[in-house]
Amino acid sequence: MAGLEERLNGIGMRALAEAWLARRGVTLDAIAELVLDLQRKYVPGLTLEACRASVEHVLDKREVQNAIFTGIALDELAERGQLDPPLGAMLRRDDSLYGIDEVLALSITNVYGSIGLTNFGYLDKTKPGVIGRINGDAGHVNTFLDDLVSAVAAAAAARIAHAARDGDLLPADPA
Ligand code: MG
Repeated sequence: MAGLEERLNGIGMRALAEAWLARRGVTLDAIAELVLDLQRKYVPGLTLEACRASVEHVLDKREVQNAIFTGIALDELAERGQLDPPLGAMLRRDDSLYGIDEVLALSITNVYGSIGLTNFGYLDKTKPGVIGRINGDAGHVNTFLDDLVSAVAAAAAARIAHAARDGDLLPADPA
């Protein structure tokens, strides 16, 4: 059981991760909508509120926060032209051979097992909702952001899938 200071610190880090996503144009509600679309056909009566709560639980994880800070920092450095060649140019053109954006995102999906990975592949391929908007945003470098958002949505959906299978939609102390 974490001490009070550690738990407060955890909440502060989640709020920071949420703020970093928001400054790149991504709200938790937009991610929750992706989760709802992924899970509504498997979990009757699933609400946007429950999906948002699942997204918040995913964002409580330290490795998820760290992936978000790292990926967004690299997108923003590339956007400002502050990364040396060849990295800056690869990130600015979202080079398909770069691949580290997907690898970083796996550190998020790995937390929730193979369902998370399957969901991530689906979102990465179909690019629904906010993911499509991020991808089509020519004014920003979002090479890491699209994968981070897909991974958080995939993990939150996997968490709901596991909870539904266990007959406990939103456990008080989820894994
Ligand atoms: Mg990408």
